[in-house]
Amino acid sequence: MTDTDMITPISDRQRLQITQATNDCIARAGVIFDRDFAFVPVVYDLQGKCAGMYQIRGTQRRIRYNPWIFAKYFEESLTNTVIHEVAHYVVDCVWGIRHVKPHGKEWRETMVAMGAEPKATGSYNLSGIPTRQYRRYAYRCECKTHELTILRHRKIVERGASYRCQSCHSILKQCASG
Ligand SMILES: [Zn+2]
Ligand SMILES: [Zn+2]
Repeated sequence: MTDTDMITPISDRQRLQITQATNDCIARAGVIFDRDFAFVPVVYDLQGKCAGMYQIRGTQRRIRYNPWIFAKYFEESLTNTVIHEVAHYVVDCVWGIRHVKPHGKEWRETMVAMGAEPKATGSYNLSGIPTRQYRRYAYRCECKTHELTILRHRKIVERGASYRCQSCHSILKQCASG
């Protein structure tokens, strides 16, 4: 197995930990602002250069995280990115996202109120982190999901190669839906 220089996305257990940290952060914001903020869905489907993103689609609010950047910068992301995205959510609830600049005064005030530094962007060394042009292919073993590069995927499909999971040693099979 040679593409070990690619970062492996965070595990299911780390995802739970981050979702929990996000909920804790939302609850803490509720205490600070003296109002109830509902928990929002947290998904781990963000790719590219951003560690996190607060998003509204229709009436659905959600927070998206980048599982590769979290894997590479776990502690830092767990503190900074979580608070950063929760602050966007809080600003949306309190002021309405359409009425303010993304990292404007309301967002900065919220960051400070929550005890964080109001810095808009992290600086990440993205080596080993797939950006959009590197599509990943989802495979499963008996213990987890694997993200394979197109090179490996092609070797499997075109040349009948097979790869085993390093944890459970079962052969990787492509997931039904990409
Ligand atoms: Zn932001
Ligand atoms: Zn496995």
